Amino acid sequence: AARASRGIQGLRAYDPGHDLVAFRRRFGVDNLVELGSNENPYGPSPAARMAVLDQLHSLHRYPDPLGLDLKRALAAKLGLDVSRILLGNGSHELLMQLAQVFAGEGTDVVFSRYGFAVFALATQCTGARARVVDALPRDHATMPLGHDLDALAAAVTPATRLVYVANPNNPTGTWFGREALEAFVARVPDDVIVVFDEAYAEMAEARDYASAVPLLARHPNLVVTRTFSKAYGLAGLRVGYLLGAPGLVAVMERVRESFNVNGPALAACEAVLDDAAHLQWSLEQNRIERGWLRDALAQRGFRVFPSQTNFVLVEFGANTTLIEAALIAQGVVVRPMGGYGLGDCLRITVGTRDENERLLAALDKVIA
Ligand code: PMP
Repeated sequence: AARASRGIQGLRAYDPGHDLVAFRRRFGVDNLVELGSNENPYGPSPAARMAVLDQLHSLHRYPDPLGLDLKRALAAKLGLDVSRILLGNGSHELLMQLAQVFAGEGTDVVFSRYGFAVFALATQCTGARARVVDALPRDHATMPLGHDLDALAAAVTPATRLVYVANPNNPTGTWFGREALEAFVARVPDDVIVVFDEAYAEMAEARDYASAVPLLARHPNLVVTRTFSKAYGLAGLRVGYLLGAPGLVAVMERVRESFNVNGPALAACEAVLDDAAHLQWSLEQNRIERGWLRDALAQRGFRVFPSQTNFVLVEFGANTTLIEAALIAQGVVVRPMGGYGLGDCLRITVGTRDENERLLAALDKVIA
């Protein structure tokens, strides 16, 4: 039998929560209410579809291995040099590559208890030791279940190579601001790579939210990952990007697959970057619907955790498993949280108003 390396032996594959393919077959794509994967229900800018169509005549050609046109567009938008950008097949791939490059047997990787699941997966793949740090408590006044940045900084040891921090975080929806961010960065030794996973950054508009991008120039040990899967609505095309010091990006290039982002995906990403109006409209819809859904769930007596993303974490208590099963039976897919140790909660993606109403109708049948 194949003998996997030590880290891989103890590993379970990334669990997307449900067999969506089976549900789509059972309910039909148009009847299923898919609120389990934090996708953008409005889809990308229509320009993305045109850009993909335009690529159909060159499917027999390899794409630009460097994705330079997309990198240039990103560089212009973010005010960074092209040498600071690396593209990935989703930001998931980049999070994995970071561990592959910087961690390994005999090293530590630090992350928060309810941090994004890929942090643990990436760590384990390399055989590194995960130092999982307790999150802020559930009864915390402002950011229940949020990252405890003081505790994260305190968990760094001489063996630590990498710290993963998601801001905002999935599955909690929690976030932090400039002061906390700067204090944290000041405390982590500069030979430790700190990865800020900002998959939901475009959606975070709270005054007390701060991206780490402005800190990159001063701190060569910081990395930011972002994605086209969420705000830009291109989850199906799998494109993420990493921002960091040119030297770090150059080292990452060594492990990158040569054509990891395909041609239609590159073209679509360039197109969505050009359509700021669609992005703004879609962010606005999300903000409105998130508030509406939060209020509707709260009115029904459920605790909704604060969120600056396109999903909400909701406490359903002792009946969570029953509620989830009943939603599924009605064709409404939400995300169970048992794998995160939050078995009394469900994570619900903010849908369109129609989808949110269908979710609530299904929920009302269960709790009536
Ligand atoms: N980071 C976070 C916090 C996420 O929630 C996700 C998607 N669920 C990802 C990264 C990965 O997204 P993608 O690979 O589609 O870029």
